[in-house]
Amino acid sequence: MSANLRVGFIGAGKMASALAQGFIKGQAVKCASHVSASCPIADKHLLEHMKQMGCQTFHCNKELMDCSDVVILAVKPQIMPLVLPDIKSLVASKLMVSIAAGVQLAQLQADLNPDSKIVRLMPNTPCIVREGVSVFCSGPQVTPQDNATVKQLFGTVGQIDEVKESMIDAVTGVSGSGPAYMYLIIEAMADGGVKQGLPRDLAYKLAAQTMVGAGRMVLDTHTHPAVLKDEVCSPGGTTITALDMLEKSGLRTSIMQAVEAATKRCTQIS
Ligand code: NAD
Repeated sequence: MSANLRVGFIGAGKMASALAQGFIKGQAVKCASHVSASCPIADKHLLEHMKQMGCQTFHCNKELMDCSDVVILAVKPQIMPLVLPDIKSLVASKLMVSIAAGVQLAQLQADLNPDSKIVRLMPNTPCIVREGVSVFCSGPQVTPQDNATVKQLFGTVGQIDEVKESMIDAVTGVSGSGPAYMYLIIEAMADGGVKQGLPRDLAYKLAAQTMVGAGRMVLDTHTHPAVLKDEVCSPGGTTITALDMLEKSGLRTSIMQAVEAATKRCTQIS
């Protein structure tokens, strides 16, 4: 990856802001001014945060293209057909990375041009704290060097894996949308703690760090989650009693159905 890499975001919303913060903190770019973002003047308040970080900002996507090597398409899927025709004449030497849920590589390639270098990538918002997880697949014009750039860039904000495009909607259902499921569980655990008399701040900290720790156990020990679960359930103990309640309330089925619903939604929104 070039030390002088310039990254531009078309769209300055939640995901662009998360990635920009992560790239700057992770020193994926030489300085904050090597990151830029554009969005319509009606949403100019969204650029204020980018400006405060030291990024360049534009209301014209074409101007942003001029000062970017990697261009991240960070608009809602429905907006993509409005944005792409406007920039298609400028994509020749750029590496284009779409993070839009449900928008397929073939569609992007058709709306830009057959020679453009396009990557479809699915990140998640914990990229802000450099604990994100992203997957990507590349179009036919993308070189091994471009793939290496994508891995290095997104590797500064978390884990990154290359997958088949057919998997990306399901990835969106698991990790793209997944932080929201985890926040719900953290909130519910904390509410449970508050109901049992804990101060709210302590309850949030306990629930959130428990989630971080459990995730780290799965990743670092390479142990099946069922084995880790069995290890913390002593016979007749508190944990197995709690799990009995979770099974009765259908937690597993609810989460599986949530992933399925998000995956299906990907195919409807583009
Ligand atoms: P958002 O609504 O927060 O941001 C969208 C941005 O697009 C806004 O800044 C808006 O001003 C801008 N925009 C609208 N029209 C534009 C135009 N013509 N030119 C330039 N910019 C324009 O949305 P978000 O949550 O940041 O999502 C952006 C993309 O990232 C979506 O396609 C989504 O599928 C994907 N994504 C989001 C998440 C997430 O957790 N938010 C996770 C993974 C992928």
